[in-house]
Amino acid sequence: MISNINYVKKILGDLKAKKKFGQNFLIDENVVDKIARIACDERYKTIEIGPGLGALTEKLLIYSNSVDAYEIDKDMFERLSSSIDDERLNIYLQDFLDTDLSIYTDKVNICGNLPYYVTTPILFKIIESDLDINKITIMVQKEVGDRIVSKADDEEYGALSVEIQYLYDVKMEMNVSRSVFYPSPNVDSVIISLTPNRKIDKDIEKGFFEFVKNCFRMRRKTLYNNLKDIYVQEKIENMYLVLNIDKNIRAQQLPLNEFINIYRILV
Ligand code: SAM
Repeated sequence: MISNINYVKKILGDLKAKKKFGQNFLIDENVVDKIARIACDERYKTIEIGPGLGALTEKLLIYSNSVDAYEIDKDMFERLSSSIDDERLNIYLQDFLDTDLSIYTDKVNICGNLPYYVTTPILFKIIESDLDINKITIMVQKEVGDRIVSKADDEEYGALSVEIQYLYDVKMEMNVSRSVFYPSPNVDSVIISLTPNRKIDKDIEKGFFEFVKNCFRMRRKTLYNNLKDIYVQEKIENMYLVLNIDKNIRAQQLPLNEFINIYRILV
């Protein structure tokens, strides 16, 4: 098993885990197996982001139709290429942010134990692509996971929560202790899954996302104050009346369906 700590140390040899690529390798087979079971479906290909030494990759291959893995680091790419021999696996030496996702026309699952510094751009790349996604299962820093699944009135609730929940059913799947990584990171992690929940209209979506960002522009201000310089005054007044919303309310207090209602009236 690639997730075995002795294997990881042996295959790394003189090589050090690279901080600049966020390298922390999973060393607990049970955890890896659980993640792969959540992420995969044997009918579909799984796209893996950042396979590293391949701990997750070898499990993804068990539960998926096939795996395409994108790795930025040549050292990892070389080690992975020589340790897993399976014709259902394609490994690409490539920054996932530079990949052309339009090559995928069939439904896919996406999985990754992501480097924390690049989580948000990677998520937005996937969400804004035309991929036909069955499910996204990713490991993220606990704070980011909390933000993604948070609801109105939660402290972490913001534009990212609203935008993702507009497109996906989000689920906090499991906590992952820092002790199951080598080297051990100084943050806790969680696994979250995102399942598409609506047919997406790219044009409506773009406008809606911009609107949501405007609502949260100044977090401490009321929604009214955030909207008043951007939308026509009459429309705003009318919206408060029609939806019977308190003028003192802040964006952070609004559930997703209210954002949709307001957007439909204002824009
Ligand atoms: N999946 C392995 C595991 O769970 O043991 C490694 C996870 S490690 C946290 C993140 C991996 O992503 C590293 O192998 C790193 O080199 C790779 N990586 C970092 N940035 C990347 C990017 N932009 N595109 C593709 N891979 C990247």
